[in-house]
Amino acid sequence: MKFRLKKSFTTAIFFQITVVIILTVLVLGYLWINKEYEVFSEQSEEMKNEYINNQKSLVKSQVNGTVDYINYMRKQTEDKLKANIKERTYEEYSVAMNIYNSNKNTKSDEEIKKMINDALRNVRFNNGRGYYFIDSLSGYAVLYPTNPDLEGKNLLELQDQKGNYALKDEINLVKKQNEGFITDYWTNPEYNDNKVYPKITFVKKFEPYNWYLGTGEYINDVEQDVEKETLARISTIRFGNSTQGYVFVHNYNGLELCNGMYPSYVGKNLLKLTDIKGTKVVEKQINIAKNNPDGGFLIHYWKEPNSNDEFQKMTYVRAIPELKWVVGSGIEMKQIEKLIDNNKKAMQVKIYKEITSICLILVGALIIAFSSTRYLTDKSRRNFELFTDFLYNSTKGNEKLDVDKIHYSEFKSLVRAANEMIEERNSTAIKIRDRNVELRKMLITDGLTKLYNHKYIYERLEIQVKKSQKINEKFCVIMFDIDFFKKINDTFGHQVGDEVLERVSKIIKDNIKGKEIAGRYGGEEFILILPNVNLNEGYEFAENIRKQVMISKFHEDDLKVTFSGGVAEYSGETALKLVKKADEKLYEAKKNGRNRIEK
Ligand code: GH3
Ligand code: MG
Ligand code: MG
Repeated sequence: MKFRLKKSFTTAIFFQITVVIILTVLVLGYLWINKEYEVFSEQSEEMKNEYINNQKSLVKSQVNGTVDYINYMRKQTEDKLKANIKERTYEEYSVAMNIYNSNKNTKSDEEIKKMINDALRNVRFNNGRGYYFIDSLSGYAVLYPTNPDLEGKNLLELQDQKGNYALKDEINLVKKQNEGFITDYWTNPEYNDNKVYPKITFVKKFEPYNWYLGTGEYINDVEQDVEKETLARISTIRFGNSTQGYVFVHNYNGLELCNGMYPSYVGKNLLKLTDIKGTKVVEKQINIAKNNPDGGFLIHYWKEPNSNDEFQKMTYVRAIPELKWVVGSGIEMKQIEKLIDNNKKAMQVKIYKEITSICLILVGALIIAFSSTRYLTDKSRRNFELFTDFLYNSTKGNEKLDVDKIHYSEFKSLVRAANEMIEERNSTAIKIRDRNVELRKMLITDGLTKLYNHKYIYERLEIQVKKSQKINEKFCVIMFDIDFFKKINDTFGHQVGDEVLERVSKIIKDNIKGKEIAGRYGGEEFILILPNVNLNEGYEFAENIRKQVMISKFHEDDLKVTFSGGVAEYSGETALKLVKKADEKLYEAKKNGRNRIEK
């Protein structure tokens, strides 16, 4: 019979290991993904900062470049102005000289002078501001197209707003070096503001008539031209990845002077422009620029003129105090968000991949755990089964279990202990059995003669009777009785009597070769059961013993012992009656002279 261990042992171990593995993998997976997420956040932050820093330096450099460009253009203004009026004066000179040379031989001076004046009077340049004038070296105005009333008048005493004698200075210069620049200060007729503006004039000597020619220009007029040109140029600036970068300029009052991306703002005052967070964007930009000579950043929202969604923007602004201008440029933060979004998507894909690989690892680990647990528990179960079978079988047998068949030291020591226990139990069992055998022997044996006792002989006789009834087996019973035993006792003493009993018993025992059973019936009487033996054979058997006893010598050869016997063959009677039959034959033998057998 086999004892099967319940499955719970395997399942319990498997479940415990599974739970441990799942927990371990989940915790490790969580830590792993968490770490990745942290790295991602750090990366995003880094990326954002890097991007912002890059963009910051980009807009900063664009704004600084633009400021440099504006300053450069401003510095060029005077040179440009000078080059321009010099060139114009040279043209004037060549026109006058041409007229003179072409006509000097044919026409009078008066005619030629008039021709020159007529030719130059209506010439205008520099957006209509510029005109030619002619003065004589003695201080008389010759050509003054903007104020012809002055022509013919001596203007030597004419002073500018700062008290300079304009014509005297010019005459001195021309006399000294033929041509050159002079700066005077006048109110500008273009403005009507009564302010004094510097005006640069170029003069050149016209030798044929002791004249000098020239033209002048207010610096601020040219400045305005240059500013317009500069702003137009700035409007075209584009930079950045998707060339979304542009530059704008407002003045301190909030007037938009230039906007590279949204020209519709130009000419409008944006001082009140407010974003969704309530920030007055332009006003703030102006303040930051005014307060930070090196420029500064502002984060605000911005709405495209034809759109409703406002997005975050970071603007760098820098002031040009001499012009009361603020130059700025911005970056759209939504590009950063887009970048981070892309990074986030890549991250999500990565995390999904990682979760998948964690799941695969989990499944792999579970498979390994399952198979190794199965292997382990199967082996343990086989050990247990072996051990259990062995324990069960050992209740019936004395077999020991082979320690080498068992795996694992725990099981081996268990088996060793069980083997020792069995060994101990076996030796105790043997002892008990031996003792029982002895007790049983004592129970059925006569103490003196070591033959079966009266009680046991009757048991055997009953068995034999039943057997004979069953299989119709013949058998005989013999009764012996020692002759004149009382006399032996009386003559030699009871001890010798006992010895005689023992010796006679020994002779009887020695004659038992087969299934014969011999017992002490009582006193000096013996009984024998001879299975499968008929009356004559029984008689012979008894005779044989009688003769042996007869010739034996007892008690130092001076004692002769004989006995008488009766034989009866079974013929269907009871055991008691059969014994009685043999006893009757014994009585006959006594009566017939003793030392003989009757049948
Ligand atoms: P018979 O020839 O007629 O049998 O005479 P007998 O003397 O043998 O017969 P009886 O029955 O008168 O005597 C038997 C004696 O055997 C009586 C008893 O003292 C003696 N006896 C019985 N059992 C023992 C024993 O165990 N040891 C000894 N020493 N004597 C015994
Ligand atoms: Mg007797
Ligand atoms: Mg007797």
